[in-house]
Amino acid sequence: MSEPEIILRGGRVIDPESGFDAVADVAISEGRIAYIGTGLPADVPGSLPAGPADVDVAGLVVTAGFVDLHSHVTDLAGMRLQALDGVTTALELEAGATPAAAAYRTAAAEGRPTNYGFATSWAQARMAEVAGLAPDGTLAGFLSRLGDPRWQRPADAAQLSALLSRLAADLADGALGIGVLLGYAPAVEEGEYLRVAALAAEAGAPTFTHARDLIEMVPHAAIDGAEEIVRAAGETGAHMHYCHVNSTSQRHIDRVLGLVGRAQAAGARISTEAYPYGSGMTAIGAAFLAPERLGERGLVPSSLTYAPTGERVATEARLAELRQADPGGLAIIELLNEDDPADRGLLMRSLTFPGSVVASDAMPLTWTGPADPAAWPPTATAITHPRTAGTFSRAVRLLTSGAEPLSLAQALSKCSLEPARLLEDRVPAMRRKGRLQVNADADVLVFDPAALADRASYARSTRPSAGIRHVLVDGTFVVRDGGIVAEARPGRPVRAEPR
Ligand SMILES: [Zn+2]
Repeated sequence: MSEPEIILRGGRVIDPESGFDAVADVAISEGRIAYIGTGLPADVPGSLPAGPADVDVAGLVVTAGFVDLHSHVTDLAGMRLQALDGVTTALELEAGATPAAAAYRTAAAEGRPTNYGFATSWAQARMAEVAGLAPDGTLAGFLSRLGDPRWQRPADAAQLSALLSRLAADLADGALGIGVLLGYAPAVEEGEYLRVAALAAEAGAPTFTHARDLIEMVPHAAIDGAEEIVRAAGETGAHMHYCHVNSTSQRHIDRVLGLVGRAQAAGARISTEAYPYGSGMTAIGAAFLAPERLGERGLVPSSLTYAPTGERVATEARLAELRQADPGGLAIIELLNEDDPADRGLLMRSLTFPGSVVASDAMPLTWTGPADPAAWPPTATAITHPRTAGTFSRAVRLLTSGAEPLSLAQALSKCSLEPARLLEDRVPAMRRKGRLQVNADADVLVFDPAALADRASYARSTRPSAGIRHVLVDGTFVVRDGGIVAEARPGRPVRAEPR
């Protein structure tokens, strides 16, 4: 073992893969876990020029940092909120980005506290090839176009071929998979989605789908959104990841999970994720938020809170006005009622479903005053969905309590090991994440199990979670003693190894 740079001494070390759960020291060297055990010599101050940082973590849990498969965060403040929720790797897989290489370059140039990675983007490729709208490389630019009907038109053969080529080029360039915001383009032909899935299967890459409307919501739809994902898995053999099954399924979660479970049992490669909140958040210009369509989801205008002003949308006329003036403006949407035990039960089942992983759908911060992403803590004018700051602490808290609690290791597994495993075939680097084992990447989370809790709420959405004591990314502290390390930007790119 080379000289450790950091020793986390005397914590309860939990590795969800091996089942290791014991008090031990963890030594970190050159960005990897170098040693786990007891009997490391205590640091003698002054005896080594660059002696190991010896950190007493007695009474705390030491485990692998969380791997978030669904983060749209691009601002420093949002990344820090995620780190304070235990996240060490935050991947943009649902919306994705194209060209993927440009997204990696931007992230590397900016420097990030957490590891990052991107799927290619079906929606952005479509905007470019079907509507002639070249991506501007920003999430705000992308969101502002999300409701634009021009990119949602059926593609002709040449456009379809161009967009598939673009996706294939990104996959060859190391993109982690294909993000498919299908639910935002309800008129797209079913055959196109199957072509995208076939391309993914050929490349050995997963897809990450925001499902189309369910048949219960839109009875005249050509295909049920859940059936479509299952069918694509069956017909193409692709790995289809079903994004936020909680929010797109609403009160039909049991029906959707039943369908997915039967397909899984028959051998289809489908995975699911969920976040433990009743409300969603997206661009107010999204097709399914058109005033005349709200009823499909049992919504009314006041189900929406427009983030830039904090207002509850009062009327259909006001909704139409906001969609026109600021289509990319974010809105919180009440889908399930967190105060209703039946709805809470649905949310829990979306999390406890076998193999379902915790993924945040974390959103970039919206500032109601001047934007200041470098300010820490976030300024009082910063607003987001509480899932940005609290998803993982909340999920661990909920999963380990209640009538049928999971063990702490099982709950942690849904936040670290299981999401890492979902990507491993395509991304061998993920085999070193989500584990607290010798030779694993030193993406490490140290928390107080008695204090771990989300504190973000809809009213106070940027309150960091409680109980997270230390977070290391690639062997560097990004959170130390509960506070953000101001200059730390150790985040590294996560890339696929195209076959
Ligand atoms: Zn989504």
